[in-house]
Amino acid sequence: MSSFVSKRVQGLPPYLFSVIDEKKKRLQEEGVDVIDLGIGAPDLPTPNFIVDRLIKELQDPSNFKYSGYAGCQEFREAVASFYKQQYEVDLDPTTEILTLVGSKEGIAHVIPAMIDPGDAALIPDPGYPVYRTATYLAGGQCIDLPLDAQDHYRPIFSQLPPSVCEKAKLMFLNYPGNPTAATVELDVFEEAVAFAKKHQIGVIHDSAYGLVTFDQFKAPSILQVEGAKEIAIEFGSLSKSFNMTGWRIGYAVGNSEIIRALSNVKSNIDTSQFLPIQKAAAEALTSDYHAVEQNNAIYNERLEKMLEALKSIGIHVEKPRGSFFIWAPVPSGFSSSQFAEMVLEETGVIITPGNSFGPSGEGYFRISLSVPTERLDEAVKRIKSLNLEVTKHAPNH
Ligand SMILES: *Cc1c(COP(=O)(O)O)cnc(C)c1O
Repeated sequence: MSSFVSKRVQGLPPYLFSVIDEKKKRLQEEGVDVIDLGIGAPDLPTPNFIVDRLIKELQDPSNFKYSGYAGCQEFREAVASFYKQQYEVDLDPTTEILTLVGSKEGIAHVIPAMIDPGDAALIPDPGYPVYRTATYLAGGQCIDLPLDAQDHYRPIFSQLPPSVCEKAKLMFLNYPGNPTAATVELDVFEEAVAFAKKHQIGVIHDSAYGLVTFDQFKAPSILQVEGAKEIAIEFGSLSKSFNMTGWRIGYAVGNSEIIRALSNVKSNIDTSQFLPIQKAAAEALTSDYHAVEQNNAIYNERLEKMLEALKSIGIHVEKPRGSFFIWAPVPSGFSSSQFAEMVLEETGVIITPGNSFGPSGEGYFRISLSVPTERLDEAVKRIKSLNLEVTKHAPNH
């Protein structure tokens, strides 16, 4: 019998976190007190001043009409002022900034805006799974971009054969990184821009965690690289920095040709975000960022507790400078999935096996710090009680 579902969609792997959700539900039904350190979304609330602005805008009926396709002027100007203040980067709100319905939407739509079926895209390995699946859905070919685990997961361009450099039309980068929590200095972006210019590859830097940083570290923007606008765009989101995941608001900035192409795709699919949400997000971006600092202080405290717990069971991880993830090697004797399963069985704590983020994620696991601190404390307690010597799938002696 024929199916109503396209071959393309039939071939799609189930979205990682929906699979984990099912497992979680099953365990909870069995009465297990599950602590989910798998979810990559903040548990903290959206700051009040943003909610207040939303409520105010909701009372103005002129906000109930369609937004302009590219988003409202106030939001795009707020993004421009954020780039000026944060990075010393000048952007034209009309041609170089686009409102997104969350950056995930932008990732999915920029691919068909840049490639034709059969064209190749360089996807960080390990990396956020949406780059891979969205490229697949657009009929593109995914090529793993090797990252150096020994050097902050910087891309290793020298490992790409000339035929791949020739063929690739776009490349994703993501720092601070999900799942790796890797951060970089501007030199990594300089190298990427130079490589991309040489081979005429469009660069998409995903800066979803650009503001989630610790210990005075300031994550650079790729647009700070001289001439980056000739080749690159950057995605930003209010989801992680201002705890606004459900609001669905983000932006694309940079190369005006790519921005126009993305806007063209989007205008045939959506009509931008609800105006009150754009205006409340503009309020966030033009604020003093005190709320972001407060969030980061909470993540930092959780991070230090969890690193200490891992250390007590023999897993040593260098303290990350950004994101709310810990990316750690699994103890010897386990694969990523075996370790995640063992931790879930022994402690009721969900962690994400690294191989779900690409082949090079094998041998690692990801912990998300985005659960309430009391729950994290409980998870820390349970992890500390794990006796790896006893539970290890020991080879026969
Ligand atoms: C969460 C996340 C996104 C998606 O963010 P939205 O703006 O909420 O769509 C994009 N990229 C990475 C790496 C993420 O972790």
